[in-house]
Amino acid sequence: MKAIQITEFGGPEVLKLADVREPTPARNEVRVRLFAAGVNPNETYIRTGTYSFLIPDLPYTPGFDGAGIVDAIGDGVEHLKIGDRVFVAALLAKRNTGTYAQKVVCDAHAVHRLPDAISYQAGASLGIPALTAYRALFHRAKIKPGETVLIHGASGGVGVLAVQMAKGIGATVIGTASTEDGFALVKASGATHVLHHITEDSMSAILSLTNDRGPDVIIEFLANVNLETDLKIIAPYGRIVVVGNRGSLEINPRLAMMKEADILGLALWNALPHEYKESLHAVEAFLESGILHPEIGVELPLEDAAKAHEQIVSQKAQGKIVLAID
Ligand code: NAP
Repeated sequence: MKAIQITEFGGPEVLKLADVREPTPARNEVRVRLFAAGVNPNETYIRTGTYSFLIPDLPYTPGFDGAGIVDAIGDGVEHLKIGDRVFVAALLAKRNTGTYAQKVVCDAHAVHRLPDAISYQAGASLGIPALTAYRALFHRAKIKPGETVLIHGASGGVGVLAVQMAKGIGATVIGTASTEDGFALVKASGATHVLHHITEDSMSAILSLTNDRGPDVIIEFLANVNLETDLKIIAPYGRIVVVGNRGSLEINPRLAMMKEADILGLALWNALPHEYKESLHAVEAFLESGILHPEIGVELPLEDAAKAHEQIVSQKAQGKIVLAID
């Protein structure tokens, strides 16, 4: 079968299309014939061999998320049958097989039914983004209907789904982006207000939208740039969830002290099995009710995985990047 294989750590050029042996499912595993794979920023960090959460053995096929049909089942799997439409969510790769491939073998717990109305591309965009959005809003921020949330970086794979979920439970959503396409996407996803990413100079915009109180919750996608500003605009007793971070910054802790604001970290890999399960039940319910409607920004063929890795870290976001698999 065709798969992307990485034989050495490095830049996007190490993502190479190869012919590899088809994997066979063992007990409690299933094999999925994939038609789409989701591309996430963490796959670019892992590719360099310097990611603190995971350094895979070489060679390996990247990819945690995908969608397709079940084509083989190991003993002990009861909730799936051959031919089921499914999505693979935040797969922790076994035997170094990932979703940038025609077929993937994975633990049956990572495989979930995909409603008929949801395309394979949309299904491939759920996994890490949907579980992260859910964990940020509900496990970490413990958001309530009626609260105001700032999704600070709402035009990307995680941000769009966070907007949809927060809106779906009755929160007022303010989303940020930096391009016309991004603003339109965030608005179409259900944000009540759409702003440019907030800076020291533009804080008044969000304060005036919240009666000078600030948002109750901020879901932050670039904390090394925004955390100090977030502390200035967060409402008293507010919660800031650090989801994305690409460096360090200096903050004045007094800002957190004065408002009794909480800064909460999030690492999806820390989700406990019952939290993962709960998140997936919620994602399935959100999909069925139409609250979640993933939008694909960019679709590239599997052989262009290197281009997808370049784009996800260097270009302005327009929703999710997925790889189409023949
Ligand atoms: P993505 O699709 O590339 O989206 C990136 C988002 O960040 C876009 O909305 C982008 O907006 C926005 N952004 C750019 N500059 C910003 C700024 N100055 N302030 C606020 N937002 C800004 O990536 P993703 O898949 O949504 O992931 C987003 C981040 O979360 C990444 O850093 C990823 O590594 C991280 N993440 C962490 C976890 C975890 O477990 N902690 C899980 C999943 C993802 P524009 O392009 O419109 O400027």
